Amino acid sequence: MYPAATLGGSIHPTGCKASVRPSLQRAAARHCGGVHLLVVEDDDAIAVPLTVGLERVGFSVTRVATGTAALAAVGAEVVLLDLGLPDIDGFEVCRQLRSRSDVPILMITARGEEVDRVVGLELGADDYIVKPFGFRELVARIRAVTRRSGATADVARPQQIGSLEIDRRTHRVRVAGSGVALTPKEFDLLTCLAVEPGVVVTRQELLNEVWDPHWYGPSRTIDVHVASLRKKLGDPRWVETVRGVGFRLGSVE
Ligand code: CA
Repeated sequence: MYPAATLGGSIHPTGCKASVRPSLQRAAARHCGGVHLLVVEDDDAIAVPLTVGLERVGFSVTRVATGTAALAAVGAEVVLLDLGLPDIDGFEVCRQLRSRSDVPILMITARGEEVDRVVGLELGADDYIVKPFGFRELVARIRAVTRRSGATADVARPQQIGSLEIDRRTHRVRVAGSGVALTPKEFDLLTCLAVEPGVVVTRQELLNEVWDPHWYGPSRTIDVHVASLRKKLGDPRWVETVRGVGFRLGSVE
């Protein structure tokens, strides 16, 4: 769960980006299209690693800690809005933002009750995510609201990793120009690994995000799907096993 576990070892607790490889950032920037996010969150322990993680997958991020600063900010293509802010209630910030702009608003909150979801959505929020949340789930939701709003065509552009092309919009995958027919689960598995190519995704993260968080079946299911995915991609190096931890997406030219 966010913030510590899913961002893994490559982010220093202070938010230092020293270990992030530039090539990875460039690759990620291509598939996130450099969408500009406004992160409204007063808690540094959440905002700092969140900002670093979002930048790492290619978003550009402005972070503010108050509702006043959020209302003064300009140019955001998606707003991630914490509800518990020190000055203005997040619901009020949402209402004011919505009264003057169609910018997609994704509410982030510790409050998970049904009534809050309804109020948030009625005030014009596009989606709602409850803490604690998985980083990949957040990225997927940002992509979804961005896609719906048409904020940028870049998000819909296929992601290219070596000779592998993934088109999330059409669910099409190609290797060296040839189409690969994947099952929905294989496609989800591949896109989950492709959020951060080269970075290890643990077996538990895959279970949580590709299967169901409450899935208690044999974890061998992952291995079966990975084996099938490798076979279809035509080279086992596409999905590397990190023994005892999980898997990462490799790159094959
Ligand atoms: Ca807060």
